[in-house]
Amino acid sequence: MSKRGCRPGWLVAALLSLVSGWAAASPPTVLATTGMIGDTVQAVGGECINTEVLMGPGVDPHLYQASASDVQRFRDAALIAYNGFGLEGQLDNVLARFGERSPTLALAEAAAAQGPAGVIAGDEGYATDPHLWMDAALWAQGLTPLRDALTAIAPDCAGLLAARADLHRSRLLALDAWLAESIATIPAPQRMMISAHDAFAYFGRAYDLEVRGIQGISTSAEAGVADIQRVAGVIAERGIPAIFVETTINPRTVEAVLAAARQRDAEVRIGGSLYGDALGEPGGLAEDLIGMLIANGITLVTALGGEVPPLPDALSPWQGRKRIFMEQLVE
Ligand SMILES: [Zn+2]
Repeated sequence: MSKRGCRPGWLVAALLSLVSGWAAASPPTVLATTGMIGDTVQAVGGECINTEVLMGPGVDPHLYQASASDVQRFRDAALIAYNGFGLEGQLDNVLARFGERSPTLALAEAAAAQGPAGVIAGDEGYATDPHLWMDAALWAQGLTPLRDALTAIAPDCAGLLAARADLHRSRLLALDAWLAESIATIPAPQRMMISAHDAFAYFGRAYDLEVRGIQGISTSAEAGVADIQRVAGVIAERGIPAIFVETTINPRTVEAVLAAARQRDAEVRIGGSLYGDALGEPGGLAEDLIGMLIANGITLVTALGGEVPPLPDALSPWQGRKRIFMEQLVE
């Protein structure tokens, strides 16, 4: 018999109590709906919070419906963090039901309520355009209410949560300045972004880029022939060199616009894939929100004839993935 088998009963009991004490101290779970929300919770929460994300890369939040196992996750969460402004339209019932028993935080709504940058009106049943994460400085306004909500469920971590919120704010503000600097390198007549759905109104306002969606804010409606011809006309008239597809949206509409513009002798191509409503795959540049906006900046600037500036020191953790992303863009 090994020594292990002779371990006295009191030692086993002591070990068990240690393990159960340890389990009791495990961090509270925050269930985030989209990747952008989950990444922001993780950035502030760190080790103090167990962050779980409902929607993975490439999932469209406008259309996402909760499964039976999702409902269990809502039930078990210490805090439910979602975007709000109707982005997760199909989850309204679940959010209302579990919002009565668990604390919730609508992060985009909380960010907007902090001021001073206001919201943009929506269309097609969206009173407010919900895509606030596209404006890094506006999104940073949500860090204070997020810090407070996390501190309420992990009070022992108050100091760490405050420090992490401050660090993430400084990074988002550095990103905000870099995006403005980047977009400004695009020659003025070409400083226009055309993509399938209206996810980029905040991006356009913040970084001085004219934005045209082809099918509106919702992704559930198809663009009509008139929409396609109207946008094709703008491309031909302005000499826009590239239009963009999105990772969560069927590229059919963009391809139809491309064909219609070429019939008008416009020299235009697909300028690449933008991240609109979901993060990219793990390991890639767009695996987190800051990387996603850097990736969008690089894709836009490169396709529309600008020049990508170096990242500021505050964003040095993204430097390596940025370089790989740019190398792949050239290939
Ligand atoms: Zn959207």
